Amino acid sequence: MDGSEKNETSRYLPAKPLQVTEKIFLSDTYRTRFEATVVGARVREGRTEVVLDRTAFYPEGGGQPADHGTIGGSLVTDVIEADGEVLHFIGGGPSPTAGERVACVVDPARRLDHVQQHHGQHLLSAAFERIHGAATLSFHLGADGCTIDLDAPPARMTPEALAAAEAEANRLVWADLPVDARERSPAELDALPLRKGAVKGSRVVVVGGGPAGEVVDASPCGGTHPRRTGEVGAVAVLRAQKWGAGTRVEFACGGRVVALLHRAEERMARASAALRCAPPELAAAVEKLAEESLARRKELERMLEALATVEAARLDGACPPGAPVAIRLDGMLGAPSGLRAVAQAMAARGRTALLGGVEGARAHLCFARPRGPGAHLGEILREAVTVLGGKGGGAPDLSQGSGPDVDRLDEALALAAARAGGSAR
Ligand SMILES: [Zn+2]
Repeated sequence: MDGSEKNETSRYLPAKPLQVTEKIFLSDTYRTRFEATVVGARVREGRTEVVLDRTAFYPEGGGQPADHGTIGGSLVTDVIEADGEVLHFIGGGPSPTAGERVACVVDPARRLDHVQQHHGQHLLSAAFERIHGAATLSFHLGADGCTIDLDAPPARMTPEALAAAEAEANRLVWADLPVDARERSPAELDALPLRKGAVKGSRVVVVGGGPAGEVVDASPCGGTHPRRTGEVGAVAVLRAQKWGAGTRVEFACGGRVVALLHRAEERMARASAALRCAPPELAAAVEKLAEESLARRKELERMLEALATVEAARLDGACPPGAPVAIRLDGMLGAPSGLRAVAQAMAARGRTALLGGVEGARAHLCFARPRGPGAHLGEILREAVTVLGGKGGGAPDLSQGSGPDVDRLDEALALAAARAGGSAR
């Protein structure tokens, strides 16, 4: 597309003849301070967008997020490319005006982070392809994490396979190979072992090659790349999961590896302080704790059952024979598990139990009776629990429910007793 076509078709800044922005980020990854002339600025949908005659701000694309920074002291919060123009969105400070000469700064820490993740992805994708024949279908670089999507099924991407690809990627990082990202002539393109077809243009990122040795990767890309692979620092494969028919691999590179390590250490320190053990003993301590907790829960269940049996015997003896026993229980037996244990123990003694209790700012009901013909306790409970403003139900011989209106528990029990042919105590 040439300049005149651009002017006719552009929806942006139509008042001024547009200039094609010089993209400094393509030729110089390290340039984070530059001067430019504002070609145009306008407010659209409440946002100020600025076009410069030249820019080092990378616009979001190719799986890489946009650079942030400042233009003439105003904050740049997003950068996109639309219709061949790079649009800088101003999120704070005075808006630059057309014709103004401005000093621009790209946030260098954010840029370096993107360079490390993005180039690390190239190396990791090359490693998966070289070692496992697994091609990368898509790539995502976010503030929370980076992923590549491989065309290989998860069954093939075992922990060992992931470790082998990670080791190969780090071998390429630590060999500190030269990286050459630039436009190529058709003859140069023919000579390169391209990992994937060109997306747009003829810019190819070549790793290795020259007098130093073989080309280890050649990938068409418009993203930002370092001069040497060593700047990636390290590549860590974190986890993998099924993604359609393929595998999604989460990874981190460079400074993010250090940040993740610190976060993991911090969590381990907190966990080991809570368990009063040294960090290396953490896994064993957690396993022991889980075992103990399970054993205690089982013990508690047995104790509750024993207590319920005693309480059922007491209620059976204290209440007139034959009639349903409608009563509220307190403490442990008033909680849903306690109510259920007592109700079932009562049913085992041949009694109909309509029990209620309060726990956790809610009133609970549990009704039980011996199996066979008799009142439908599920239907009776469904009616009684509406008094509590809640929901519940169940089978003819066992039902449960709860509601927030704890002050009306006695009323709910009286209603249930009347329906079941008895009276509440
Ligand atoms: Zn790339």
